[in-house]
Amino acid sequence: MTKFDLIKNIDEYEIIAKSPYGAYILSKTGKKPHYVGRSDNNLKVRILQSAKERKCSYFWAKETSSPMQAYKLECKYYHKYEEIVVNEIHPDVPDGTFWLCPVEGCE
Ligand SMILES: [Zn+2]
Repeated sequence: MTKFDLIKNIDEYEIIAKSPYGAYILSKTGKKPHYVGRSDNNLKVRILQSAKERKCSYFWAKETSSPMQAYKLECKYYHKYEEIVVNEIHPDVPDGTFWLCPVEGCE
């Protein structure tokens, strides 16, 4: 994973405004993941809100070109960091969709 960026520098984060969809990881220290999330409508706004709620100062994000890709990416990060992040439940699909988690061995 690339280095975490400070939330206050989010406007300088190149990829952030181009696509509304994507997955992100928040961190309190900038060293290890704290929370995994995704956006289906506004990646930047979602990261800022989520960081405020979780009291995180650092983020890392990756844009996707569709909500389904955002979901699948979120699942991958969730499973990769499952042991250390505070997420209590597996990423949920948006209402009306039946996408499946791409991670092998996931129920
Ligand atoms: Zn899964």
